[in-house]
Amino acid sequence: MELSKKGIECLRELLAPGNRRIVIVTHTNPDGDAVGSSLAWAEVLRGMGHAVTCVVPNKYPYFLDWMQGIDEIVIFKNDTEGRAARAIAEADILFCLDFNAISRLEILSETIQANTTARRVLIDHHLSPDEDFYLSFSHPDASSTCYVVYAIVEALFGTEAITCRMAEALYVGMMTDTGNFAFSFLTPELFRAVAVLIEKGIRIPDIHNNVYNAYTEGRARLFGYAINRKMEIIQDGTVAYMSLMENEMRRFQFQQGDSEGFVNYALTIKKMKMSAMFLAHRKFIRVSLRSRGDVDVNLFARKYFNGGGHKNAAGGKSFLTMQETIDHYIRSVREFADEGHLG
Ligand code: 5GP
Ligand code: MN
Repeated sequence: MELSKKGIECLRELLAPGNRRIVIVTHTNPDGDAVGSSLAWAEVLRGMGHAVTCVVPNKYPYFLDWMQGIDEIVIFKNDTEGRAARAIAEADILFCLDFNAISRLEILSETIQANTTARRVLIDHHLSPDEDFYLSFSHPDASSTCYVVYAIVEALFGTEAITCRMAEALYVGMMTDTGNFAFSFLTPELFRAVAVLIEKGIRIPDIHNNVYNAYTEGRARLFGYAINRKMEIIQDGTVAYMSLMENEMRRFQFQQGDSEGFVNYALTIKKMKMSAMFLAHRKFIRVSLRSRGDVDVNLFARKYFNGGGHKNAAGGKSFLTMQETIDHYIRSVREFADEGHLG
């Protein structure tokens, strides 16, 4: 990943006046990378004398509750006092972190679009970003937005500017988006960055424990149920899918974030190339897709589920019933295979 020198200079100029009103927004169903990059970048900007508000469309998963500064994030969906809307309306600069298109903000999109004067800056690692940003740091070859933020801070100020608290937030995103350093884009630069974060005093075992060993009993039992009872395998053992209905989730006291990781599990089976998870919401079904190697689920999500993401991790939505969604998936997988996309 290479940052553009021109982009960095442009960012430096944009931030030079100090005392700007800045809002940082990130995607719906914010994950460790979304929250980590927002918290770290907010701290950098505050250190420069700016007034910063972090806004998320809806709640982050409870296993991130321990993160320092997370209480200051305004959750748009629960924001009865209108703090988010006010901060967005008054913002001079709007940083868009860890997503590629304003539509990914869902319930927050309209409020963001209403501010037509703020300079918009994208910091992201998803494929196919929107083009209407004043400044764009779009790096689909970076493993996480946290790594892009790290590189920007390094380019602006050097790594001396990174505090332990920032380092912890950045590590959360690097760790979660790489599946604990197991997926793609594991470059020497990434591990050099991790080395710097360790020098700042982060405690990796503690962070790991806080994120991955903090689930409820209900989640553990739901996982067992989902794998044992709901995982279906098709396409000669190379494609899997799993679905969860609202009543099934209620049975296991489901909380936002509890199904995180379920979709990956099918890929632990040797021949598996692609896996899907269909999670029922009130008005639609959220689709999560994962793949191995050359199988491109970003393409699959775009083509069949009006979504997108990365090559090996993507998502989308379905407005059909669960059974219709599954039927559509099975048909789409067959077509995808016939076109040679499953290798
Ligand atoms: P997850 O399955 O963890 O929710 O999402 C995996 C990846 O797909 C993430 O990078 C996420 O940004 C992307 N993604 C998930 N849902 C959607 C969607 O509805 N539209 C688009 N464009 N990307 C999505
Ligand atoms: Mn990310």
